[in-house]
Amino acid sequence: MTDYEAVIGLETHIQLNTTTKIFCACKADSWNDPPNTNICPVCTGLPGVLPVLNEAVVEKGIILAAAMHADIQKVSFFDRKNYFYPDLPKGYQISQYDRPLARGGFLELPVPASADGPAYIRHVAIHKLHMEEDAGKTKNEDGRRLIDFNRCGVPLVEMVTGPDLRSADEAAQYLIRLRQLLRWLGISEADMEKGHLRCDANVSIRPRGADYLNPKTEIKNVNSIVAVREAIQVEIERQIRETEAGRRIEAWTLEWDEDAGVLRKMRSKETEADYRYFREPDLLPIKLDEAWLEALLATMPELPLERRVRFMQQYGLPEYDADILTTERSLSEYFEEAVRSYGGDPKRVSNWLMNDVLRMINEKGIAANELNLTPDYLAEIIKLVDSGIVNTNTGKSLLDKVEQTGFAPGEIVQKEGLAKVSDASAIEAVAAEVLAESPDQVASYKSGKTTIIGWFVGQVMKKSRGKADPQTAHKILEELLSK
Ligand SMILES: [Zn+2]
Repeated sequence: MTDYEAVIGLETHIQLNTTTKIFCACKADSWNDPPNTNICPVCTGLPGVLPVLNEAVVEKGIILAAAMHADIQKVSFFDRKNYFYPDLPKGYQISQYDRPLARGGFLELPVPASADGPAYIRHVAIHKLHMEEDAGKTKNEDGRRLIDFNRCGVPLVEMVTGPDLRSADEAAQYLIRLRQLLRWLGISEADMEKGHLRCDANVSIRPRGADYLNPKTEIKNVNSIVAVREAIQVEIERQIRETEAGRRIEAWTLEWDEDAGVLRKMRSKETEADYRYFREPDLLPIKLDEAWLEALLATMPELPLERRVRFMQQYGLPEYDADILTTERSLSEYFEEAVRSYGGDPKRVSNWLMNDVLRMINEKGIAANELNLTPDYLAEIIKLVDSGIVNTNTGKSLLDKVEQTGFAPGEIVQKEGLAKVSDASAIEAVAAEVLAESPDQVASYKSGKTTIIGWFVGQVMKKSRGKADPQTAHKILEELLSK
């Protein structure tokens, strides 16, 4: 059998997190609102109204274009894309066609190692990036067709990649990276379940290493990363089966049925000519002012992959740590602030952060910058442990105490008397008490079961409410038991 490779391009629609819609003052995010409550004459296309462009949409679109290393166009235009559908009250969608906001970027996609081979980087071209308004939503209920216009005019950026992805896994990795980047840049919540990030996939196959393109099929509107991976995989396998059986691949539009795990053929798609694009006469061309653009681009944060490399170089972190600490922007900022405040070995901060603080963040489902346990407090706790004022266990329990109360670690240590007891006579008194209360265990220790020493240490720690230094306790117990 021929060895095939997949050729995949993705079209993503990204909902920008602006406060208001793209051409009117209606609230953009309607996720929790009843149908048709965030609408006005502009977004429902009543006669005689005029759209006004929301500057924040252009700003966020440009930030994304810059992160994709795309060529930002100094002049771009809005166009009308004409088609008839009940969720589109104007009869056209305002979009950008031949003069989009940006073109010609790329995304460097690190693909992790898998059973198929080592890690590598895939260069994914971005053909174009344009702004447009969303349409409404229709649904069937009790035999009636209902329309919700809340989504009409919600700002979207559409981004189209080249046919550069080579497997269902790479397509999934692309979406994971894109979602991370959108959140990092603060321009979209990028929640696929809520439709903030929607994806259509163009899929074809060819003999591995060939440089021509075969006819492709388009998979529409898949709404989770898992589903994108599954749908593409199913389609690749179908195309291989068809080709091997000597049948041609037709340029179908397919819809993924998530419950059945199958693709269904949809109506044949309009071609570009059917949309009768023409310039939107109610909006001016978008001309970017040089100084405005420069000021905007100056607000660009360092990107996740760059920060990951810097963390390895500047702080000497292993790749694994750098990867985790740069999954999310506020976590990476938290780490750097804690390192500054601590002043010691960055790897030590990374360990505390990845083992314990990350657990708290995940349990609470919040971002690092929302913790009561600030980077300064984390640094203070590590210093308390380093200087021997508290032992490691007390240090770990301090993390939760600071988070719960919001008090400074030093304050809690004082108030609760948590400072480590390494004074041998105090520990000896507690140890003697423990031995006196546990004659059976003492007998079994003396009969040779010396591993029970750990249990005695535990009891001493318990009685001292965690304050005893475990090493000192261990030594004293051994002495007492050998008598
Ligand atoms: Zn409106």
